[in-house]
Amino acid sequence: MYNTAPEPNESVSIVEALDVSYPIMEHFYTIQGEGYHTGSAAYFIRTAGCDVQCWWCDVKDSWDGERHPKMTVRELVEKVKAAKATKVVITGGEPLMHDLSPLTDELKKLKVDIHIETSGSSPLSGSLDWITLSPKRFKKPLPEVYQHADELKVVVLTNKDLKWAEEEAEKCAKETKLYLQPEWDTPASVPLIVEYVKKNPKWEISLQTHKFLDVP
Ligand code: SF4
Repeated sequence: MYNTAPEPNESVSIVEALDVSYPIMEHFYTIQGEGYHTGSAAYFIRTAGCDVQCWWCDVKDSWDGERHPKMTVRELVEKVKAAKATKVVITGGEPLMHDLSPLTDELKKLKVDIHIETSGSSPLSGSLDWITLSPKRFKKPLPEVYQHADELKVVVLTNKDLKWAEEEAEKCAKETKLYLQPEWDTPASVPLIVEYVKKNPKWEISLQTHKFLDVP
C-alpha cells in the first residue's frame, strides 16, 4: 500500500486532474495472469514509455512513449467504469515514469483496488493498494521502493538470477510475498526454479497463466 495524497496547496482541481493525459499502449478488461492475484478479473492499463530496456522484454512496443496516443484520466476512468471492474492494474512499459496521482486519485472515486507492476526504477506516485516490484538488473529499483513492495517478482533465466533474487528479497519487508517467474522463452529456467523453490519454500512460483489461457 502506498499513498501520496497531495497537500492542500499542492492539489490540482478535479477538472485539471481529469484532463491530465498519459501515453497508453493498450487497455483492456481481463484476468490477472501473474503473482498473488492470479486468476482475478482486472482492468489493465498499459502506459507507454520504458527506460529500463530488458533485452528479453515481451512488450518492446511500449518503450517509446511518443509512438502511442495519449488518453486523458477522464477517458480511462470511463473505460474502467463501463467495464464494472473492481480492480485496476497499471502496468507498462514502466508506469512510474509518469506521475500517477491524477489517475489514481480519480480511479479511487470508483472504489476500485489499484495495483501496479513496476521495476521500481522511478519514484513511486499515486494511491496504490498493491505494489508488484519486478526488479531489473538493467536499471535497478530506487532504495525507497523495496519497503513498499507487497510482492517481489523476479524473472529467472539462469542460476545467476536466483542469487540476485535473494539479494533483492533481503531489501524488502519481511511480509513481502516472494515469487520467482520463469522467462517465457527460456524453458530451461523452469526446472531451475522448481528445484530452488523446493529447497527454499519462502519463494513461490509465478507463472504467466494468461499466456497458457491465451488471454491478453
Ligand atoms: S521493465 Fe518491463 S517493460 Fe521495461 S523493458 Fe523491462 S520487461 Fe520491458
